[in-house]
Amino acid sequence: MDKKQRMQEIYTILDTLLPKDIQFLDQRDPFRFLISVILSAQTTDRIVNVVVKDLFAKYPDKQALSDAALEDVEAIIYPTGYYRNKAKNIVACAKALRDRELPDTMEELVKLPGVGRKTASCVLGDIYKKSAIIVDTHFSRVVNRLNLVDTKDPEKVEREVASLLEESKHYRFSMTANLFGRTVCHARKPECEDCPLSSLCPSRDAFLKTRSKG
Ligand code: SF4
Repeated sequence: MDKKQRMQEIYTILDTLLPKDIQFLDQRDPFRFLISVILSAQTTDRIVNVVVKDLFAKYPDKQALSDAALEDVEAIIYPTGYYRNKAKNIVACAKALRDRELPDTMEELVKLPGVGRKTASCVLGDIYKKSAIIVDTHFSRVVNRLNLVDTKDPEKVEREVASLLEESKHYRFSMTANLFGRTVCHARKPECEDCPLSSLCPSRDAFLKTRSKG
């Protein structure tokens, strides 16, 4: 079976097994969603979902957030880590978007403060329902273990996965592979024994061997 066929099989298994609507961040308003994604770097979505409730209770929209005092925003988002940088970026984003809509292209989104390809892809896929491959740590780990790619470089991962799968499936695969990484193919102890992808996974035997030794 070549890589493209394997990819199709993996896609279908995950698509069938996992929920249709996968959302990690609670906020659905486009601007609030963008801010949530920026805050989610290097922390958990659970923490972000709690912190943004306080943030948007005090600063409900981009106009309010663009007028906020940096120190106050820092204090609210402190639990998400890297709070100085994040506060600077989200207030700058609010200022940049104060009088316009959130853009719907990769090119425009990555011009916003603190917005890289991963954040932009989340917005494109989740808010605008456009084709997007979201490469975060879970996604990258899963596609590497499945030997769909052999690189940790996010842009290469994105390009190589894109070349294996039809555009209409990109976003769905981003979400299913990500959820699968969080729930089965864990960073430390992947659940290879009960994994629905085990017959398609070249890493399985190596993991099982280490376990039987331990
Ligand atoms: S067999 Fe193990 S390493 Fe391979 S995808 Fe499943 S959980 Fe991950």
